[in-house]
Amino acid sequence: MEYVAILLIIFAAFYYFIHHRYLKQQDLKDSSFKKKGPLLNSKESVFYNALTTAVGQHGIVMSKVMMSSVVTPKETDKKRWFIASNRIAKSYFDYVVCDPRTLEARVIIELDDGSPLSKGKIERQKLLMHVCKSAGLPLIGGNIKMSYQVGKLRRLLAAHIDLIEPDREVRFCKRCGTPMVIKTAAHGDFKGRRFFTCSRQPHCTYTENYNVVFEEES
Ligand SMILES: [Zn+2]
Repeated sequence: MEYVAILLIIFAAFYYFIHHRYLKQQDLKDSSFKKKGPLLNSKESVFYNALTTAVGQHGIVMSKVMMSSVVTPKETDKKRWFIASNRIAKSYFDYVVCDPRTLEARVIIELDDGSPLSKGKIERQKLLMHVCKSAGLPLIGGNIKMSYQVGKLRRLLAAHIDLIEPDREVRFCKRCGTPMVIKTAAHGDFKGRRFFTCSRQPHCTYTENYNVVFEEES
């Protein structure tokens, strides 16, 4: 028993010695770095290119954006703020489509690389969905196939950001023939999503999905 205790003391002393003598004395110049290669792997790059094409001039696409750069905990209680902040500390969003003028995040896109569902992947998806839902950020799930379906990507994005000039796009109510107006859903599952609605509301309640215009593409 004594023997073990002595050994432990020696070990602790040794650790303390090493720690102070070497690690603390290390200079910044003793750490050197090398480049890691491209920021995105080939699949991520192809998807990125499709996304920038789909968005065009209507948004700026950022990739691998730290969650903490986009959202912050709502909590006012210090401890809970710290826990919430810790939850997102090491995570990033795959792609963030930002407003081209203000760079404010408008849509989050998660790319499914096709790898099988693992515990880590499920945890990440849970976190993503929760973060986006509570922050009121639209989340779109993308997959590799969409890298070759720019029209489909555009269709998904169109519900959240301006991809068409509203004044150029004139639609008429299919029920009464009156020109329709663009509105944004204020609540419900589609909160923040835009749609066309008859300008004679509440007399005529006809509405139309905003993104129908892209249906013919790709
Ligand atoms: Zn109408």
